[in-house]
Amino acid sequence: MMTHQVPFDGRFSIGEFSTGPPDGMPSKKVLEEELDDLVDELDTLQQRLFADQRFAVLAVFQAMDAAGKDSTIRKVFSGVNPAGFRVHAFGRPSELELRHDFLARVAERLPERGKIGIFNRSHYEEVLVVRVHPEFLAAQHLPGVDMLRIWTERFESIRGFEQHLARNGIAVVKFWLNISRKEQKKRFLSRIDEEDKNWKFRLGDLDDRARWKEFQSAYETMLRETSRAWAPWYAIPADDKAYMRVAVARVVVETLRNLDPRFPELGPEQRRELEEGRRRLEKE
Ligand code: AMP
Ligand code: MG
Repeated sequence: MMTHQVPFDGRFSIGEFSTGPPDGMPSKKVLEEELDDLVDELDTLQQRLFADQRFAVLAVFQAMDAAGKDSTIRKVFSGVNPAGFRVHAFGRPSELELRHDFLARVAERLPERGKIGIFNRSHYEEVLVVRVHPEFLAAQHLPGVDMLRIWTERFESIRGFEQHLARNGIAVVKFWLNISRKEQKKRFLSRIDEEDKNWKFRLGDLDDRARWKEFQSAYETMLRETSRAWAPWYAIPADDKAYMRVAVARVVVETLRNLDPRFPELGPEQRRELEEGRRRLEKE
């Protein structure tokens, strides 16, 4: 089992997963070197993924504000051919999106074979922020919501959706960047104190911080109900950025290695074309 993987038996307890890196973590320099190597390998693997044309990878990122979703995505995928991956950030749904079922907008943005798709927030907001803020649910035009069953039903829909993806060659891998309340405060303060970070600060983010416990509880249930063999969750310690990035990169690389994408084997016709090509070029 990969490090930080959330078990598939529904027994995950949020307190067992640390927000800080493991003891004996290597120095920042060593972590950065490892990240460089992983980034290179990721680029090579994505080339094979593209040549192979059977699989896609979908990496989902969820976290509280300031946990480092954006910078992790930037650092981990920075070395991949820009044509090989696409990032989608999911914010508050539009009026049109609200008139669709809650999986519709993510289904439209899935990666095609050969590509890596990255979701910065995702359908999981539907069992997180929407669960913590009932007014978001009220805005969804749903016919007769049974509050006792709605979250169970959504988990069922999500598991079914992701299993469908897995069966069709899309490897789903999900990251919860697990930041502590204390570290979030520190990062919010630096957004206020450092001028080039001011643009990131939104007063509204403090409202979600004020509901920390409710969010943690929503995360815990979500991780229990939706970490499965076909779409595992990883609870990544997020208080140390260098460690977080390497931990994410290791999982992404391992996911691709396990798919083992290959260059297609040449048939006799293609071999003949190669020979013919060489002959013609040599005659020039
Ligand atoms: P950010 O990612 O910080 O730019 O903010 C995006 C905001 O959109 C976050 O506060 C999310 O919680 C919110 N959001 C994303 N998806 C949904 C959704 N399905 N319903 C309501 N709010 C959402
Ligand atoms: Mg926000």
